[in-house]
Amino acid sequence: MPVKKRFLISLVIPVYNEAGVVEQTHARLRQTLDALPHDFLIYYINDGSSDDTERSLAGLAAADSRIRLLTLSRNFGHQAALTAGLDHAEGDLVISMDCDGQHPPELLPEMITLFEQGYDIVQAQRMEAEQGFSFKSATSAAFYRLINRISGTRIEPGAADFRAMSRQAVDALKAMPEYHRFLRGMIAWMGYKSVILPFHEPKRLAGKSKYSLAKMLRLASDAIFSFSLLPLYIGLSAGGLFILLAAAQIAYVLYIFIIKPAHVTIAPGWSSLMAVMLIASGVIMILLGFIGVYVGYIFQQVKGRPVYLLKKR
Ligand code: UDP
Ligand code: MG
Repeated sequence: MPVKKRFLISLVIPVYNEAGVVEQTHARLRQTLDALPHDFLIYYINDGSSDDTERSLAGLAAADSRIRLLTLSRNFGHQAALTAGLDHAEGDLVISMDCDGQHPPELLPEMITLFEQGYDIVQAQRMEAEQGFSFKSATSAAFYRLINRISGTRIEPGAADFRAMSRQAVDALKAMPEYHRFLRGMIAWMGYKSVILPFHEPKRLAGKSKYSLAKMLRLASDAIFSFSLLPLYIGLSAGGLFILLAAAQIAYVLYIFIIKPAHVTIAPGWSSLMAVMLIASGVIMILLGFIGVYVGYIFQQVKGRPVYLLKKR
């Protein structure tokens, strides 16, 4: 499909407790947008902020008619807020980015050019090499190694939720109603023509990361359990191994009892028996845990609850 020269672009920006930061981000965004020939709509999704974000956003919206505000009824999390934005965004090209200054708007012209060249997904990727060592970068690297090992979908390490998507890709994503959302994975899974745009991720403008450890763990769990059945197979293999061990042990016991009855002793061996029992029950509990997670995910999916609820549009 040939792309028109001038088209409508929507920006989707989730905001959670970022009062003070959104103004700076928006001012910087305006500078970039005003220099571009396209029409823009800017969707700010207030993800249940408890600070002054609501007021900041209302102030911005009063001064800039391109702004659209979506307010979620509570804090649903980054992926749900992004989903709300993508669901509502109009236009031929939709670009999602963070509002904390870590996704530089200066990259937008290049993203748009790549879209015009025919890419459906322009995915910005942090250059990890220059990030230095931190808890976040180390756990993120380990996470991507794991997920790429166990899932059939290749997910680029350091792929941020900073990307441009064609209308076709956004519509395809909207047709995926899954509750546990790991958008990077879902978008990689769709398989549209993509290109990676490496970028240097600056520090946050102000405030602290809104991704608490609990939120990071939840995202990792959503990614692992919705992109891989491997945990279930680990269980299966571990179970098989234990059956083999048990068979070997029975054979050994029978051998002692039948061939060498003189060697039978009971009390010694208690410790090894205990060890085997503990390990086996540990393995069973882990397996039940894995199954429990999948059952939980199925339960939530079957309930068919919406991923987010809007309070205000
Ligand atoms: N965010 C959100 N809901 C949340 C957590 C974060 O909408 O529950 C937003 C946040 O305001 C920011 C973006 O998601 O615009 C990324 O969050 P953050 O910068 O805190 O994550 P980090 O860059 O530390 O991974
Ligand atoms: Mg950030």
